[in-house]
Amino acid sequence: MIYIENLIIGAGISGLSNAFFLKRNNRDFLILDSQNKAGGKIRGQYIDGYRLEFGPNTVLYNNDPFRDIVKYLQLEKDLVYSNPQVKNRFILKRNVIHKIPTSGFSFLCSKLLTFKGKISIFKDLFSKKNNHDLPVEDFIKSRFGSQIHDNLIEPFLTGVYASDTSKLSSKYSLKKLWQFQKESRSIIYGLLKKRNVQKSPIVYFNEGFGYFINKLVDFVKENLLLSCKVSRIEKNNDFLIVDTECGKKIKCKKLFISTESNQISKMIFDVSLKEALQKIKYNSIDVIHLGFEKEKAKFNFNGFGLLSRKKDNRNFLGVLFNSQIFSNICSEENELITVLVGGQNNPTIVKENPDEVLNTIKNDMKNLFKISEFNFERHFRWREAIPLYSINHDLVNKEIEKFNVNNPNIFINSNFLDGVSVSDCILKSYESVLKSLKIS
Ligand SMILES: Cc1cc2nc3c(=O)[nH]c(=O)nc-3n(C[C@H](O)[C@H](O)[C@H](O)COP(=O)(O)OP(=O)(O)OC[C@H]3O[C@@H](n4cnc5c(N)ncnc54)[C@H](O)[C@@H]3O)c2cc1C
Repeated sequence: MIYIENLIIGAGISGLSNAFFLKRNNRDFLILDSQNKAGGKIRGQYIDGYRLEFGPNTVLYNNDPFRDIVKYLQLEKDLVYSNPQVKNRFILKRNVIHKIPTSGFSFLCSKLLTFKGKISIFKDLFSKKNNHDLPVEDFIKSRFGSQIHDNLIEPFLTGVYASDTSKLSSKYSLKKLWQFQKESRSIIYGLLKKRNVQKSPIVYFNEGFGYFINKLVDFVKENLLLSCKVSRIEKNNDFLIVDTECGKKIKCKKLFISTESNQISKMIFDVSLKEALQKIKYNSIDVIHLGFEKEKAKFNFNGFGLLSRKKDNRNFLGVLFNSQIFSNICSEENELITVLVGGQNNPTIVKENPDEVLNTIKNDMKNLFKISEFNFERHFRWREAIPLYSINHDLVNKEIEKFNVNNPNIFINSNFLDGVSVSDCILKSYESVLKSLKIS
């Protein structure tokens, strides 16, 4: 049996960040992953002149631990900041592409909402504070009316969680808005108070997010063991005994777990936690990359991307205009878009033959953006893409809190807790390491 002070399970961005901060604090650690490659959901490829990302495409550079990693690994020179036109975002309503209003004036002029839809936002000013979590659909409709929900919030959340808003928790998926109404009763008032807060930049890396992962891997590689799946975790007095499918048995003092919830549920000894984690569902998403010569399209892709509405029953959730967001995606004469398909609103499409899905989406994009011909196409399928923060998430959280009290030497920091974004994952990992340092 191997003994190690700190064991990390999972070498996605959460686990790698744990490893980074432990190493920075001169701690002994080992990091395991079941795959033969680190990075988890961060996966990319440079192919035929196009820089593709199958997982995250844009990341918010919004917290100190993230900046700390970038600075320490001397990656500031490799950061690519988003282009100014990313402030333009579009919604497809019926068959018309609308720009999302970004100012009071553009809101008044927008055809995305009727006059009635626009004045409904004032319901928020007279709404009571909500203490108990609500499905996003109920929460938003009660404060802003159906049009804001159907034409703005629902497409936006579909873009992040690919989830059905009648099942999605407001408290966890609209964290800021939920906080505003708790603090100020009115979301509008809360937003106005924060209107001068500077927005965090959206970043990428010169050679893609894979480059960032490779640099993190280089930093911790002596302590990284790939193709080693953890099958069981048992408690043994003050220690933990971890069984793997690669023949290693490991005893550790502190354990960091950064895998999907269903994996934890299979390996963990605590029956209540097992049951709570089984409640977390993941959706499947197909990621389709399409490249074309700029002159082969009639649409002006001058923005971040386009989202579809659930009501319109489209085959796709949204489209990212990658080569508009960042300048290092492909050559100047080409354009790359990424289409996200499936999620909770359209689960059947991601069970279809990948070639059929690709053809359907190519036709949709040709019609929508008047693209005559593609010179590049790729299809990628995630069976378990993004965890759903459903309306019973409070119960899951309570169970995890209870588990933490009974097991202060186990740190669960995965993307099904406190945010799915890459920057949230880094922040949570940093906080877990800080906590662990206080335990002798
Ligand atoms: C299609 C898609 C688009 C996204 N877009 C964005 C975006 O634009 N911006 C953004 O910020 N975020 C985005 N996200 C979310 C973000 O990428 C993820 O939430 C984040 O990368 C998760 O990192 P993680 O380390 O917590 O988990 P993961 O990346 O899932 O890593 C978990 C690791 O655990 C390993 N593992 C699992 N079971 C075991 C076991 N039994 N033993 C050992 N190892 C195990 C897995 O192999 C994996 O490597 C997107 C995600 C997807 C899927």
